[in-house]
Amino acid sequence: MDGEREEAIDGGRDDATGGEAGERGASPRGWSSPKIEVRERDGHRGVYATSPIAAGERLATLARVFVERPSKYTIQIDERRHQAGTSETDDFFNHSCEPNCFLDFEALAFVAARPIVVGEQLSFNYLTSEWDMDEPFTCWCERPGDHCVHDVRGFKHLPRARQLALRPWISPFLRRQLEALLAADAASRDPGAS
Ligand SMILES: [Zn+2]
Repeated sequence: MDGEREEAIDGGRDDATGGEAGERGASPRGWSSPKIEVRERDGHRGVYATSPIAAGERLATLARVFVERPSKYTIQIDERRHQAGTSETDDFFNHSCEPNCFLDFEALAFVAARPIVVGEQLSFNYLTSEWDMDEPFTCWCERPGDHCVHDVRGFKHLPRARQLALRPWISPFLRRQLEALLAADAASRDPGAS
């Protein structure tokens, strides 16, 4: 699998038409668990559990089709590397500020963060992968206890306390960005240090 992870970005493609990414026949396709399916409710598509799911279960792997620029359906993997929208299951995991899934960035797979019951919608926190979103939106998940950030624009735009709270779940790329921010914080607190 290591070889696949090194797949080069095809910089020559017209990324503005990201929906066509799935047509590259040679690209490894994504996988999704038989325990989930994409459904449309109230005009919005989402991924729902069709069987009970245990915490830690792998639910979908990304198709490993990468583009350089973000769009509504991309998932950021590195600074200039985004999982493309391929119309596969992984495109339809909706955002929640307190999600029941997380993205395993090593395996490029969605994993259940806790047990999930039949009929429950699967979600992950877009702010664990996106640095500066192409299409920001307002979240109304209204999780109790001030969990909802409302303004979903990317990790870059979160207050430091929220960034730190997400630290266990964020991508290696966002972790590097956060380390740089924390180093800058430390330098500004102690201008004498080098
Ligand atoms: Zn929210």
